[in-house]
Amino acid sequence: MTAPEPVLSVRNASMVYPGGVTALAGVDLDVMAGEMVAIVGPSGSGKSTLLNIIGTLDRPTSGTVRVAGQDIATLSDRRLSALRAREIGFVFQQFHLSDGLSAAENVATGLLYAGVPRRHRRDRARAALDRVGLGHRAGHRPHELSGGERQRVAIARALVNKPSLVLADEPTGALDTATGQTVLALLHALNADGTTIALITHDRDIAASLPRRVEIRDGRMVTR
Ligand code: ADP
Repeated sequence: MTAPEPVLSVRNASMVYPGGVTALAGVDLDVMAGEMVAIVGPSGSGKSTLLNIIGTLDRPTSGTVRVAGQDIATLSDRRLSALRAREIGFVFQQFHLSDGLSAAENVATGLLYAGVPRRHRRDRARAALDRVGLGHRAGHRPHELSGGERQRVAIARALVNKPSLVLADEPTGALDTATGQTVLALLHALNADGTTIALITHDRDIAASLPRRVEIRDGRMVTR
């Protein structure tokens, strides 16, 4: 049997922005299926840059990034978008929901680029909302929901396509502490059900609650 392949593998990745700022300097990171890992670091340490690279929104200046076994450098932009839509679910600090769409329609947008026929999108969106405990809010618009409920809708959207990796960028950053704890508990429960999660945060308490932490400082991993 071959060894299990990481869902994410970053090797010696560097990012130098035009103007010469080195935001990442030789980062290595493997995330295995089923893991829940915190990527923690202070402001300016390179977290957003790493997130963009892991999320395949940006390509590193040097080094390799593999998602679900695919080296992203070998893919055209179109195939990279398809890989991203299939394999990665994003959760953002500010939810990024569309105000004009119901909760269920927002979740269903997670399936638009994955080639799922329209008739299946609705049922899958409902099932994802049920998983985050919001089935009874399927018809509500974001402005009719609390901050914690909005983030749960966003989590449902990230999950609806059964991605290899959920990438959460400061997912509790816009929430009060108690609501943030509920959202964090949901992410833990989803991980216990097999969802692989990488959570980016500057908050050491949140990082401490996760089973694995990696720390980034000045564009370098300091613990792994
Ligand atoms: P964090 O998310 O941890 O705050 P960033 O990845 O945003 O860190 O930034 C890391 C470093 O790269 C910082 O010094 C920042 O000023 C710089 N940086 C980030 N984005 C750009 C960019 N588009 N162009 C130039 N420098 C950038």
